[in-house]
Amino acid sequence: MRFYRLMRVGYGVLGEALITIRKEFPGCRFLIFTGDEYSLKYGLRVAEIVQGDTIVGDNEPKERGYGLVVGVGGGSVIDRAKLWAYERDLPFISVPTLPSSDGIASPVSVLNGKSRFLTLPYGVIVDLEIMESAPRWSILAGTGDLISNLSASVDWDRFKERSAEPYSHEASVMARSGALSLLNSSPENNLDLLIWGLILSGLAMNVAGSSRPASGPEHKVSHALDSIGYGEKHGIQVGIFTPLFLKLNGYPGWERVREFLTEVGLPDHVTLTEGEAVEVFSRASETRPHRYTVIENIGWERVLEEAVNLGFVRIV
Ligand SMILES: [Zn+2]
Repeated sequence: MRFYRLMRVGYGVLGEALITIRKEFPGCRFLIFTGDEYSLKYGLRVAEIVQGDTIVGDNEPKERGYGLVVGVGGGSVIDRAKLWAYERDLPFISVPTLPSSDGIASPVSVLNGKSRFLTLPYGVIVDLEIMESAPRWSILAGTGDLISNLSASVDWDRFKERSAEPYSHEASVMARSGALSLLNSSPENNLDLLIWGLILSGLAMNVAGSSRPASGPEHKVSHALDSIGYGEKHGIQVGIFTPLFLKLNGYPGWERVREFLTEVGLPDHVTLTEGEAVEVFSRASETRPHRYTVIENIGWERVLEEAVNLGFVRIV
């Protein structure tokens, strides 16, 4: 296990960090993955500083003897770049432009619903100036993804004996501590805590050797919602179901977590037809079949019943 070789988190750190990287890899060709909308201007700026080639949106890069890959964008850009670099054994630098998920600094890449455990990025550069101007939905989604570490790790602690993935107490506490710091913060100064929490989440996955400390029953329901095309952001979906699974695992502060998420501005329920609700909850287990959670423990029917009774699912 290793740590990031380069890590910068702060206001206006992007330029200096990129110059450092450029100097560390003299004569090396850089390839910059970037999105075709929001992140494009940042991607072009990065390419200019490191004098690299850009690959925009879903385009496939050509093999041109690249020596280093940079991902500049939101979750899907970062995850594509991360995987492309991993498959070629190239160092990968993550430059997130949105704080929308814990993929920004993790060893995991999720593409088209398929999750792959890779290696920790070589470098992570988070410029808080960029993050501060990120759209509100991305901050809400990142908040939901980070807070979901509570239900994921509490669930893992409870069912560790039945876990297919090796349990790590250290990873569980790491994943949870970032979420708890944010939960106990005042609404004004939480961007820093959100970013550090998401980074800590990536490190917890690295310690665990799996995404388990940051992905439990709330993620299974979210993946099942994706499979019916529900269409809400990942972090928002997992955030909605975090208090439910805390309650089902007997966590006393579940209502406080629900209040916090509502105060921040996350929706507190999903709206489904009865047929959709049955489809989602009956399918949740098979989205990560090797992962034993409270859903398998008490059965999806009971989970759905509680979700409806407590207002996390509204049936129309
Ligand atoms: Zn997640």
